[in-house]
Amino acid sequence: MLMKTLVDILEANHRLDNDQLAALLTTNDHQVVGYLCRRARAVAQEQYGTGIYLRGLIELSNVCRNDCLYCGIRRSNRHVDRYTLTPEQVMGCCEQGYQLGFRTFVLQGGEWGDERAQWVADIVSDMRRRWSDCAITLSLGEHSREVYALWRQCGADRYLLRHETHNAAHYARLHPAEMSLAQRLQCLDWLKELGYQVGTGIMVGSPGQTIAHLVEDVQFIGQFRPHMVGLGPFIAQHDTPLGDQPNGTVDMTTRLYSIIRLMLPTALIPSTTALATLSPQGRLQGILAGANVVMPNLSPADQRANYALYDGKASAGAEAAEGLRQLEAQLHTIGYHIDWSRGDHNSSAFAPH
Ligand code: SAH
Repeated sequence: MLMKTLVDILEANHRLDNDQLAALLTTNDHQVVGYLCRRARAVAQEQYGTGIYLRGLIELSNVCRNDCLYCGIRRSNRHVDRYTLTPEQVMGCCEQGYQLGFRTFVLQGGEWGDERAQWVADIVSDMRRRWSDCAITLSLGEHSREVYALWRQCGADRYLLRHETHNAAHYARLHPAEMSLAQRLQCLDWLKELGYQVGTGIMVGSPGQTIAHLVEDVQFIGQFRPHMVGLGPFIAQHDTPLGDQPNGTVDMTTRLYSIIRLMLPTALIPSTTALATLSPQGRLQGILAGANVVMPNLSPADQRANYALYDGKASAGAEAAEGLRQLEAQLHTIGYHIDWSRGDHNSSAFAPH
């Protein structure tokens, strides 16, 4: 079968079998990769036009109980200056973000025990009261169903929790023994049941990842049908056990954006900071491959360096909330613009098969 035909099948049926996906992920034929990218871009534009949604990222805390082998803020990294923003600082970030035009705030951070759930709940409630027209997204790792329910009741709308890899053995290679793929998937199910718009995703090129793993990931995403799909290249962080491993690539990351766009036409897909960190053109390449969201950093400037998930993490220029004009100018060069709305998932547009 012609490789280009696979792209057409994927666009028409929103699925491919494992061998077909593997073929698209591995082909060296630039024409096919270019075609995949163009079809994904066309589908993204049919769904969302040439507007790119903004999410203001607030890095709440780099304190973490987990010890994920890839992550710079893992518990056993002694070289991290640990911080937690005060509720006042969080509100200050939101205030600044709101003035700049943001209508979605993402609170991301290391994972804490459930004993601090109420502290987060109070912040979410306060945000909900003060910015009633904004979406509130949380990205705070694994918790009990009760904690997710509490945060939802307080007004959180969305939750980002990447599954990282859908292969249990690979998951075990990236995480400490006390973490498991099964628990992560359980959390994702709870979040969906509780009515969150849910985001999942992976690091592309994480150590030990094979094409077969990526195929499993894509199939899982197709079945789980998350509202949001976060995909960024793995980037080594020098103080972690995986610090000497090679980074993921722009090519594989953008190929996955395109494949996911054709599988889930309405998905909200950020062109991630990790992709922008890997290459100066990464942000725009991601958008041209079918991404439709960017997440500029709204964290207090003096803490950004301490939220170093990986080496060289971009947090200035078009990555920063202050750099919105620069971002807008970059988007214009490829015929896109910022869409200032809340940017909810276009769920009515795409009925599942
Ligand atoms: N603690 C929360 C959120 C913070 S980490 C959680 O675990 O969900 C957010 C994402 O950053 C992770 O899901 C992971 O995919 C990504 N990340 C962490 N370390 C990374 C690295 N070295 N390279 C690229 N992405 C990384």
